[in-house]
Amino acid sequence: MSIQPSLTTGQMMAQPLLISDLIEYAAQHFGKQQIISKRLEGDIHRYGYQDALLRSKRLANALTALGVEQGDRIGTLAWNGYRHFECYYGISGMGAICHTINPRLFSEQIEYIIQHAEDSYLFVDACFLSILEPIADRLISVKGIIVMIDEDQMPNTSLVNVINYEQLLSEHSEDYLWPQLEPSTAACLCYTSGTTGNPKGVLYSHQSTVLHAFASRNPDALNIASDTIVMPVVPMYHVCAWGLPYIAPMSGATLVLPGDGMGGEDLYRLIDHAKVDLMLGVPTVWLGLIEYLKQHGLSIPSVKTVGVGGAASPKILVETLDKDYGIYLLPIWGMTETSPLATLGSANKQLLALPEDERYALQSSAGKPMFGIEIEIFDEETNTKLAHDGEARGLLRVRGPWVLKSYYKSDKTDCFVKDQEGNTWFDTGDIATIDAHSYLRIVDRAKDVVKSGGEWISSIDLENAAQGCEGVVEACVIGVKHIKWDERPLLFIVRDKGIESQAERLDKEAVYQFLTDKIAKWWMPDDIIFVDQLPHTATGKLQKRTLRDEYWNYLVDND
Ligand code: ADP
Repeated sequence: MSIQPSLTTGQMMAQPLLISDLIEYAAQHFGKQQIISKRLEGDIHRYGYQDALLRSKRLANALTALGVEQGDRIGTLAWNGYRHFECYYGISGMGAICHTINPRLFSEQIEYIIQHAEDSYLFVDACFLSILEPIADRLISVKGIIVMIDEDQMPNTSLVNVINYEQLLSEHSEDYLWPQLEPSTAACLCYTSGTTGNPKGVLYSHQSTVLHAFASRNPDALNIASDTIVMPVVPMYHVCAWGLPYIAPMSGATLVLPGDGMGGEDLYRLIDHAKVDLMLGVPTVWLGLIEYLKQHGLSIPSVKTVGVGGAASPKILVETLDKDYGIYLLPIWGMTETSPLATLGSANKQLLALPEDERYALQSSAGKPMFGIEIEIFDEETNTKLAHDGEARGLLRVRGPWVLKSYYKSDKTDCFVKDQEGNTWFDTGDIATIDAHSYLRIVDRAKDVVKSGGEWISSIDLENAAQGCEGVVEACVIGVKHIKWDERPLLFIVRDKGIESQAERLDKEAVYQFLTDKIAKWWMPDDIIFVDQLPHTATGKLQKRTLRDEYWNYLVDND
């Protein structure tokens, strides 16, 4: 007699959502669709998803032969390229955890991260071996280092147990059956940049990664289809290149990987070569590309959309991309803790029909949440939800199936907060507004907002205003100590080095003049300091803490 299933349980197949399914799907249905990589060896490499699948399977066999077991952490220190892509699939697909390490972190942080994750093998681009050489003795969990370069170009190194990637793959079969893992199995580990304290690990699961990819490719999100040619200019060592190595195979899209070529000239060449139509990255990358295009009178007609996140999109960037290049700036908000995509401002008909100024304003917001992500702003004192009126500013909290519920091997709990209905939210550390149409606007990081006489001045808004002044390459605002107002804003400016004549060079007076009708009078910075360069974090964001430490007493001392 057959056993009847419970009538309250859905009667559908419990097919787990696994990372290996993404590459299997792409290989089977879009096998010839290409992954185009700028190699560190100098040339351009092209192959199809079918080739990528077979090499990922070789890698999975190689890892098994090396004794890697499910749940083991395997580190990568690498740029965006096809071998790194194979690591994403070979490692996670066989049930181990792909731990992407940001090579731009300080040496002590890299050492800390590898020790904390207890990585057993490291897959490394040859150019990053010099990072490991001085710290190798202290990386006791690491059993071997696999160098991702052609066999005949293996560099000399003082490291031991070094294996060439191509040699390793050639020794193993491309026959491999992916294990049917539980969907909650850990797949990938990324550490936050650690602007305060040690970096913290965020451990994504197979299911959270696939759901994030499902949501992110939708028309009102990144709008990726099988004929999209997409290039992540955000590195694969930073929050999985915002999910693109998963989203592209799920969509059968062409994936373009720029290697270490994140500068203006390299980007231009690759865009032109591969006819890229969608790119993603932080604002500074695009400022660099635009500078190069302007200097050389070039254009990039294939590009339709540039997705910008990681920091606020300055209005001037929205306007330049639109007016000078016919490109839509797609604003994005997210963080390592949210996989990272959470809110986006897509180019829908309603938005495109708005008067230019209103449209630009929305394009420099952080967009609207994707299905699956809930966002709310909370009052710090009362823990109540604030109005979505575009005015009320509160602590931004998020929840959803690709938002973390705890940090990896950490007892930090203060950022997980219950609301009055008992739901748990992740407190992002951002202060934001949400308007009646659900557009999110990040006012500031809670620790960066300038607290002047009990009111908040958004350092981001001030920077955006200053950024619009001709001759300004980069602007940064911090709050510094003030006897009467507690804190007042101090503006740092990097001037355009191309303007050499003293008479044409930007001075304080010109900046103040420019800002007069752009910001409230009480927001006016108390001083403006011209600097040659500004400090940045490993992910290219302004390192405000360094400036705050140095200039905290500046106004008090110069009073
Ligand atoms: P990502 O991981 O991609 O840079 P991090 O975890 O390093 O993310 O930093 C996330 C923080 O970056 C956010 O909490 C927010 O302060 C800032 N950020 C990201 N996107 C935006 C945006 N569109 N506007 C303003 N700030 C942003």
